[in-house]
Amino acid sequence: MIFTLEKWIKEAAFDCQTCGQCILTHTKLICPMNCPKGLRNGPCGGTLDGKCEVIPEIDCVWTRIETKKTDKKFKVHLPIDHELLNTASYVNLVNGKDRATRLPVDFVDTRHIVPRSSLSRKMLAQEFVVTLEIASPRERQGLSRVEKIMSRVAPRVDAVNTTTNAGGVPSLHSTETAEVVKAHGVEAIIQFCGRDHDEMDFLAEFERAMGMGHRNFLLLTGDWLPDEKREVNQNTWFPMDSSQMIHFANERLENYERRFGFAPFLGVAANPFSTPMNISVERLHFKRAAGARFCQTQAITHVPTYREWYRQLRQGREEEPKMTIPSIPLVGSRRAFGVLCRLPGVYVDESLHRIMEQKSFQGATLEWAFRIAEGLAENGAAGIHAMNFGMPPALIDDFLGEVKERANVARCRAASASS
Ligand code: SF4
Repeated sequence: MIFTLEKWIKEAAFDCQTCGQCILTHTKLICPMNCPKGLRNGPCGGTLDGKCEVIPEIDCVWTRIETKKTDKKFKVHLPIDHELLNTASYVNLVNGKDRATRLPVDFVDTRHIVPRSSLSRKMLAQEFVVTLEIASPRERQGLSRVEKIMSRVAPRVDAVNTTTNAGGVPSLHSTETAEVVKAHGVEAIIQFCGRDHDEMDFLAEFERAMGMGHRNFLLLTGDWLPDEKREVNQNTWFPMDSSQMIHFANERLENYERRFGFAPFLGVAANPFSTPMNISVERLHFKRAAGARFCQTQAITHVPTYREWYRQLRQGREEEPKMTIPSIPLVGSRRAFGVLCRLPGVYVDESLHRIMEQKSFQGATLEWAFRIAEGLAENGAAGIHAMNFGMPPALIDDFLGEVKERANVARCRAASASS
C-alpha cells in the first residue's frame, strides 16, 4: 500500500525508478536511476553535448544533476542493494534498511601508500611511457595472436592493456591475456568493468590477479552491451561503477601491501571530449579522491581540446606528478575507422576524416598519430596509449619504435619555449 502510493507520487513528480533506497536529496531531486546504466555516482565518459551515450535522444541524467550541484563534496554511494528494489523507500528509511546504500561514505586517504609497479615507478619519475592495447581473444586458441604481437612489440612498450569483454563482446578475462604479456617481460594493465562484476566477485578476481603478480589495474564503468535493448530497465543496471571499484580496492591498500608485498597501481578512464568539459574534469577529480593514481583517456584526435581539458584538470595542482596517458588511434583501415567513429563518446576530428578520404592513407594516418603524440607530449601527457584500428603490424612497430623519442623532443621544445 505505502509502496503503491509512493510509486504513484514519485513517478509523477521525479520519474522515480523505484530503487527503494532513494537518494533524491543528494541528486538535486533528479532520479539518477533514469541513467540506463543505473549509475549512482556521476556520469560515465560517454556524454556528448549533455546527451546520453546509450539513448542519445535523452539528456544525460548525471549531466543534469552535476550542472545543478554547487557543493563538491566527494563521497561515494555504494552499489545498490537488490533486495530493496521495488519496495517502499519511506519504510526502508524509517527502519534503516537503506542506510548502507542511501548515505554516501567517505573516501579513504591512502596518498601515503606508494604503488609498486614498473609503470608507476616510471610515471612517478615523469618518464614518458608508451602503452599498447591488446584485445583479449574470445577463446584460448586466440592467445597465439597475442603471443605473436608480444614477440614483436615487447622491447618497445612500457606496459600493455589487456582488455576484458571490450565493447561488451565476451572474451577471455584480461588476466589470461596478461599472462602472455608477462611471459615477455612486460607488465600488463588489467581491466575490470563495473558492468561485469558485483563487489564480491570483483574483489575475488582483483586479488587473484594480484596473487598472479599483476600490479597495474584499470577500473572502468564499461560500455553498453551491444545486444542489450537501449532503455532504462532495472535488469540492465550495472552492478558497479568505476569509482565504487576504485574505492573498494583503495580502502584495502594497506592490507594488500601486507599480503602481496606491494600496493597496486590503480587507474581509471576519462574522456576530455565529454561535454560539458568541466563535468568531465570534476568526474576525474572525484575518481582521484576515490583512490585513482593514473588515468588513461578516450581516443584523442584534437590536441587543442585535450590542452584545454588538461589545463582545467591541473588548475591548483601544477606541482603534482603528471599521471595522464592519452590514447591515440592508429588507423589503418576504413572499416576500423568506421568502428572508431561509432565508439561511444569518441570525437573524431576533421583532420583525420580528411586523411581517410585519400586513396592511400596509412602513411598519412601514421604521421598524423605522431603529430598528435607530439602535441600531447607538449601539453603535459605522461605518455601515450596506442590503440590499433586496422594498422598493419609493420607500421605499428614503426610508431612504437619512434614515438617515445619524438615525444621527448616535443617535451624539450615545450620546456624551452616556456622558460
Ligand atoms: S549512461 Fe552515461 S551518458 Fe547515459 S545517463 Fe548514464 S551516465 Fe549519462
